[in-house]
Amino acid sequence: MFVGIEGGGTTFVCGHGTGPHDLAGVHTIPTTTPDETLAAVGDWITACLADGIEPSAIGVASFGPLDLDPTSPTHGTITATPKPGWQGTDVPGHLRTRFGLPVAIDTDVNGAAVAEARWGSLRGGGPGVYLTVGTGVGGGVVVAGRPLRGLLHPEMGHLLVRRHPLDDAPGSCPFHGDCVEGLASGTALRARFGRDGVDVSGADLELARTLLGSYLGQVVAIVTLTMAPRRIVLGGGVAAMDGLLDEVRRVAVDLLAGAVPHPRITDGARDYVVRPALGGHAGLIGALALAADARASTSGRDPDTDATTDVVTDATGRHPT
Ligand code: ZN
Repeated sequence: MFVGIEGGGTTFVCGHGTGPHDLAGVHTIPTTTPDETLAAVGDWITACLADGIEPSAIGVASFGPLDLDPTSPTHGTITATPKPGWQGTDVPGHLRTRFGLPVAIDTDVNGAAVAEARWGSLRGGGPGVYLTVGTGVGGGVVVAGRPLRGLLHPEMGHLLVRRHPLDDAPGSCPFHGDCVEGLASGTALRARFGRDGVDVSGADLELARTLLGSYLGQVVAIVTLTMAPRRIVLGGGVAAMDGLLDEVRRVAVDLLAGAVPHPRITDGARDYVVRPALGGHAGLIGALALAADARASTSGRDPDTDATTDVVTDATGRHPT
């Protein structure tokens, strides 16, 4: 049994279980100040413990950017977020101190990618990508069942794309203006049309679909060329815009222009760019998967097979680095 927390810019969503089949107790907390929000999350966990729930680890799939370098003294903290008050917040440290349990953290989209790889649209092995278009734009990558991390974590929302000729908006990204998040996020749509993505209608809907199809189609093409994923999931509230998924597929196939000659792509990409199988809870279920991984890394068990795995050590008994 694990506790999962999806930390978003608008809400924190908590739940417990081991995966999509037994996810329960889902509880939503508004994101306000770090102190207030994390106190409410902690109180919810305390109430779960009082109800007899016995989690062995906590997983957090959070908005970022995050410091995920395990050698960093600020590992697990939120870094350069424009969200007031949250820069430097140590969500896992707070929960570890309060509950004494292993706490894993990764980005919300890396968590969602892991969940879709374990239980949803990215099953079947090989690299997979989870793109989300909501208030912001983000992308997570799963490789061999694990989230991709390196010096940092993927930041696909800041990919720089070619501007559509019909688009004269300045772009809403505080860093770049017209990166994909600045042009195709819910925030960008609201600035351009005065409405949220799924509420855009009429002639505005046609233009919104054309612009977002162009930008997200470019992202799919870039990700295809750089990551060679077996499948790409397109999630998030804005991505549910009427007709958008087909437009993204059409633009991506058009841009790739046969240079990546796999039938899954050239046949219209209907089985290549797909909706999430886990719906809106992919991030929360991903947090449960991160918790399972944290638990497994302390017990030497493989969460994918629940089989005990050999922990490789060198002659001195240390893990090779
Ligand atoms: Zn940007």
